[in-house]
Amino acid sequence: MQAEPLIFIGICDLAGIVRGKAVPVREWGARSRKGVGLTHSNIMMSAFGPIYETPFGTLGDLMLVPDPTARVEVALAEGATERFCLGDILTTEGENWECCPRHFLRRALARLEAETGLTFLSAFEQEFVYTGVEDRPGATYALDSFRRQGAFGETFLAALRQAGLEPDSFLPEYGPRQFEVTIAPKPGLRAADEAVIQREMARAVARHFGQRAIFAPMLEPQGIGNGTHIHFSLRDAADRPVLYDPKRAYGLSELGEHFAAGILDHLPALAAVTAPAVASYYRLTPNRWAPTWTNLGRQDRGASLRVCPIFAPTAEEAGRQFNLEFRVADAAASPYMALGAVIFAGLDGLRRKLRLPPPPQRDFWEMSEAERCAAGVRPLPRSLDEAVERLAATEAAREWFGERFLDVYLRFKRAELRAVASLSAAEICARYAAVY
Ligand code: GLU
Ligand code: MG
Repeated sequence: MQAEPLIFIGICDLAGIVRGKAVPVREWGARSRKGVGLTHSNIMMSAFGPIYETPFGTLGDLMLVPDPTARVEVALAEGATERFCLGDILTTEGENWECCPRHFLRRALARLEAETGLTFLSAFEQEFVYTGVEDRPGATYALDSFRRQGAFGETFLAALRQAGLEPDSFLPEYGPRQFEVTIAPKPGLRAADEAVIQREMARAVARHFGQRAIFAPMLEPQGIGNGTHIHFSLRDAADRPVLYDPKRAYGLSELGEHFAAGILDHLPALAAVTAPAVASYYRLTPNRWAPTWTNLGRQDRGASLRVCPIFAPTAEEAGRQFNLEFRVADAAASPYMALGAVIFAGLDGLRRKLRLPPPPQRDFWEMSEAERCAAGVRPLPRSLDEAVERLAATEAAREWFGERFLDVYLRFKRAELRAVASLSAAEICARYAAVY
């Protein structure tokens, strides 16, 4: 028997799932220019598969055109090769389609640069459950747990490197069978492409070992969450870091304060994009090292925005290391949508010159809920439903998405809410765990 080498052309869509079509590698020359056909309703494919609702019906054609900078070809053992290329959804006239997630991020980056001259640097730190290791008491962070996952970790990191990423670390995390992978930051769109590649390579390598890498936000309602933490900083036109000012509160420059304040101001609505599953909200609950309030904290892993530590011999190096970590995201979100939404919200903070509330006088977690509210902080939405309605009521989101795309996104999320409305929390977790 022979095998015809195929390459999968895909987009990480509104459900955070890479969907597309495979074509023969020998046709790549022509395919890399014209892509593969899609219909508008493809974007309405839910996390669980079915199209529950679509404003587009059965009409229309679009092209999914691969971006050669996001092509991955990684040899796995026994002759198997993981071969895919991420791309953009274009109209048949060759314009970017208004509902393309990758275009959403491109627009956010372009708007940021046009209005401020700033570029965006980020890295996704992702947690997942690897099924190929037995859960044992005491396994958290343990060398023994690292050892018992066998060849998965080293094969996974080699695959990332072969895919053009720079792996930074791999560790046994806090949850049962939970691991985490970090990679080096990259500018602009590339960071989101790499977040997608990171997830897909974990899945591909796990599958090679007869296992799964599960990125679902929560595998059971009372479990430990899988977060996708987005570390970011901003650079000026000369590539100088601009977030850091050691003389100011939190070490944040004035510009950094505006950007962070924009994110926090819009956070309840942003959550509908960055934590977009019904199960996401089982993670965003107390005592899980996951955020529950719209707060910024210095080196606080319970905060929504964490000011990360620096460990640097010079002020210049400190400025380069200084970054913020956005912790309200998980892997049900398309990285393009999550990053785009964070940038649009931050940019809104820059435009409005928003300020952060003064740093709390005492430990945030010792304060009562009323004291936290008085300190200018709000609870995060408690459900996807709440977050979606906040997004629908956010005037600025009309500009971020455009009227059409916002309507599409809201319909998409409301249909997902209806699809699981009759299920118990445990059933909901199981359903998302089967997908992500
Ligand atoms: N698992 C936690 C989350 O759901 C994060 C733990 C950590 O700080 O790495 O976000
Ligand atoms: Mg972690």
